[in-house]
Amino acid sequence: MSQALFPDRPRNNSLLREWTGPLTEDLVLSPSRHGLDRVPKRFTGDGAVETVCGYCSTGCSLRAHMREGEAVNLSVDPNYPVNQGLACPKGWEALTVLNSGDRSTVPLLRDSKGTLQEASWDEALKAFVGKFKMIKETFGPDSLAWLGTGQITVEELAYLGALGRFGMGIRHGDGNTRQCMATSVVAYKQSFGFDAPPYTYQDFEDSDTLIFVGANPCIAHPIMWQRVMRNRNRPEIIVLDPRKTETAEAASQHYALRPKSDLQLFYCLGRMLIERDCVDERFIDSSVEGFDEYKAFVQDFSIEETIERTGLAYEEVERLATSIERGKRVSFWWTMGVNQNYEGVRLAQSIINLALITGNIGQPGTGANSITGQCNAMGSRLFANTSSLIGGYDFVNPDHRSLVSSRLGIEESYVPSIPGWSYDQIVDQIEAGVVKGLWIVATNSAHSWIDQDRLRRAFEKLEFLVVQDMYCTTETAAMADLVLPAAGWGEKEGTFINSERRIGRTRKVRQAPSEALADFSIFRLVSRYWGDLNVFDSWSSPENIFKILAKLTEGRPCDISGIGGYEMLEEKGGIQWPYPSDYRSDSVQRRLFEDGKFYHPNGKAKLIFERPCSLPEEVDENYPFVMLSGRGTSAQWHTQTRTSKSDVLRKLYPKDVYFEINPEDASNLQIQSGTLSKIASRRASIVAKAMVTSTVRLGQIFVSMHYQVTNKLTHASFDLYSKQPSYKYCAVSIRKYDEN
Ligand code: SF4
Repeated sequence: MSQALFPDRPRNNSLLREWTGPLTEDLVLSPSRHGLDRVPKRFTGDGAVETVCGYCSTGCSLRAHMREGEAVNLSVDPNYPVNQGLACPKGWEALTVLNSGDRSTVPLLRDSKGTLQEASWDEALKAFVGKFKMIKETFGPDSLAWLGTGQITVEELAYLGALGRFGMGIRHGDGNTRQCMATSVVAYKQSFGFDAPPYTYQDFEDSDTLIFVGANPCIAHPIMWQRVMRNRNRPEIIVLDPRKTETAEAASQHYALRPKSDLQLFYCLGRMLIERDCVDERFIDSSVEGFDEYKAFVQDFSIEETIERTGLAYEEVERLATSIERGKRVSFWWTMGVNQNYEGVRLAQSIINLALITGNIGQPGTGANSITGQCNAMGSRLFANTSSLIGGYDFVNPDHRSLVSSRLGIEESYVPSIPGWSYDQIVDQIEAGVVKGLWIVATNSAHSWIDQDRLRRAFEKLEFLVVQDMYCTTETAAMADLVLPAAGWGEKEGTFINSERRIGRTRKVRQAPSEALADFSIFRLVSRYWGDLNVFDSWSSPENIFKILAKLTEGRPCDISGIGGYEMLEEKGGIQWPYPSDYRSDSVQRRLFEDGKFYHPNGKAKLIFERPCSLPEEVDENYPFVMLSGRGTSAQWHTQTRTSKSDVLRKLYPKDVYFEINPEDASNLQIQSGTLSKIASRRASIVAKAMVTSTVRLGQIFVSMHYQVTNKLTHASFDLYSKQPSYKYCAVSIRKYDEN
């Protein structure tokens, strides 16, 4: 029986009704008929199955304990080189969230009255393909786009990217990794010649000076933080963050600099370190390009001006420079406080520059180290076929296009010579009426995108919105014309790549509910319904895709052609890239650049720098507070589509939207902890409960990113080079909420 799940929403379905084009026969693929979704035999019985966690980029391994072919409990292997017997609350609850009542179990198709109704897979896929083909034929190849995710496996990301760009001829596809990692990707590519985070987690334990910039690993990457806690060198742990975060509380030094003043500080530190002769001249001579220009550039960044801009004391800036100078193994770590910034690429490079001039790279306990966000953001960076050509190649390089086409057996003319539009450009083009068909896979744009109301208004203009997700109740699924039910973590096979470049196996230990299919199976169905895509015949299983991708990377910095298949990954407990076919070492902790050779043609890293820009949005008398946003607790994940489904996790974070405010500001506004308050930006206003705390400075507030309303307030500004949204800073006003 059909079931209406969402309120009516009239949509323009005229094109779907008009489509009468041919569709391939025999394409009603049921899971049982094609064996796509069986639990593999080797996982049945009572033994435990090692599988990499599907939340964050740490890449912990969890042991799933099986009963009659289904995982019933989890434990952790003390010998896995990543988490060494530990897991965070999200990992422990990873099975629970699969049992939620709002799992997407059957396709849902919006009818002519605007109501989502249950549909068969055949109806759903005919509607999807029919509508997308009609849009493309009517409005041209720029009229379609997809948005992927760092939450699905390497093999699935590669399938989506290859199917979209080489198969369906969709010119524009991007991922939610644009929201978290694009800045580091561009920074590394420009500085090192390839997107290459250089470290291994052992560096947390080997360093004697760890500098965290805009990072709060205590709650955002708690297992990495545990590795820091195992450091036996009595290290200096230094945190640069406007807020006194959980990590700052535990650090030996905290510098609460003014928001967005870090670039000034790092250029000034560069100048101070050069003046103190604290540079590694031998390393600079052999491995670094642009030192003289950098030295001249940083002369303009005086300590006096830095004190003025950052709000730090003279002694603080001196102490920070001295800590770097005295450290023998200095490591720099950053996450979203750097990446989600309107000048994030140059900021990341200002950190990279400090590591390069002091020779703190390529050796144990050192590095300019970006910590990734999602479980497979690193896989997305290499294989999603969005900002880089699949396999870590460049769209604009004709030799790369030719090589990719021959290794994948794809006609060269099908390999695009430019990357497609980035996420923000896709949203712009939806708003402009150019993009009319959008396929969203496992991301919740209607919650997470910056200046959320604008995105929602843009989505209303779409002719056809397809959402493929494991839950049918996300804010984005509620807007869809078609919802495709997807299996979640634990219900499918594949690999993830973690922050330290380790490729790990994620396993099917549960059956997906009802008719939900692995994203791999859905892509396979779409390719068959689309028709004439024989090139994907060999992409017949996740492992076959993995082998194709491994071969594809041969000769690139991310070469994994030496990994023969899943069995090898399982035996070795994950393998870090690179792993070329002639690689012989058994080391389980490998860092890059140990030989001082980088990926630019001359083998050197580049020092890249630029003058700081002005703020995209200023505070003024109407909007006098700076709103910072970030992760709330270790029990919350992004838009909470999963973590809100666990009773245990829900007990570990505040249910209601709250904001942190300094006691002096609260007193001036006559606000106490618990007072309902109205927070308004130039775009929208929300109501939230106050939490009065000295962790935030005067004139600043902090709002957790996980609440649906947070991104109503944020200001849509982007890094010029990476197009990453600048979530962390906008101007707001606060006043007591008057319910009348
Ligand atoms: S730290 Fe990340 S990978 Fe490890 S258990 Fe928690 S969510 Fe999973």
